[in-house]
Amino acid sequence: MKKELKFSVFVDFDGTITKKDIGDEIFKEFGEFEPYHTLLYEEKLNISEYWHIVCSKLRANITDFDIRTYAVECETDKYFNSFAEFCRKGDIPISVVSDGFESYIIPILEREGLGWLKVLCNKLDFKKGGGAIPFFPYASESCKCACASCKRNAVLSNVPPENIIIFIGDGWSDFCAAEHADIIFAKNKLAAHCNETRIPHYPFRTFFDVERILKKIILNNDAKTRHQAQLLRKKAFEIE
Ligand SMILES: [Zn+2]
Repeated sequence: MKKELKFSVFVDFDGTITKKDIGDEIFKEFGEFEPYHTLLYEEKLNISEYWHIVCSKLRANITDFDIRTYAVECETDKYFNSFAEFCRKGDIPISVVSDGFESYIIPILEREGLGWLKVLCNKLDFKKGGGAIPFFPYASESCKCACASCKRNAVLSNVPPENIIIFIGDGWSDFCAAEHADIIFAKNKLAAHCNETRIPHYPFRTFFDVERILKKIILNNDAKTRHQAQLLRKKAFEIE
């Protein structure tokens, strides 16, 4: 009999678990979003520079509580809870990986009864005189991604070597993690990137699709590591 496969699941937050990019909404609401966001898209700022600027522009006396109160109104994919429970019941480790901030991610997950999920993301330190200082625990010097928190590093430092890596995402901060994953679920920019770079992936609309496909993969016990991803992982371990 074929030995039972082990999986680790990593899920992006903004635009994947949530319907909107709630990180962007928060900086629009409490700070100055433009012209910095446009400069970021024009690649005149990298993400770390962008976060430092927009965090310094957050209104004076903003607190964690303000962000939490605003964030909990955010709409999430209604099938995500079922998917997270499916992973928990099946003993499949599941983590949220984000280049956004704990201050809004945790309250949204707690509202959904998902406070038990492991979250790998950036943190904010609120200053007394106003604004906040961002911290990037998974920053990478060696990855080609221009992210503050490199999702490749977050994934690779949180997965047992024998596990098959499943990555689910939608945006460009997901590119490097997806390239290093074995099974990829992609929508929007990430799906376009996978198509352009010929990375096999499952397109999805909601976590209903993800759960259905993953159940089938587990039932058939026929998943394997992706050779190209395995080579990249080896390389990443050598240079980090
Ligand atoms: Zn990266």
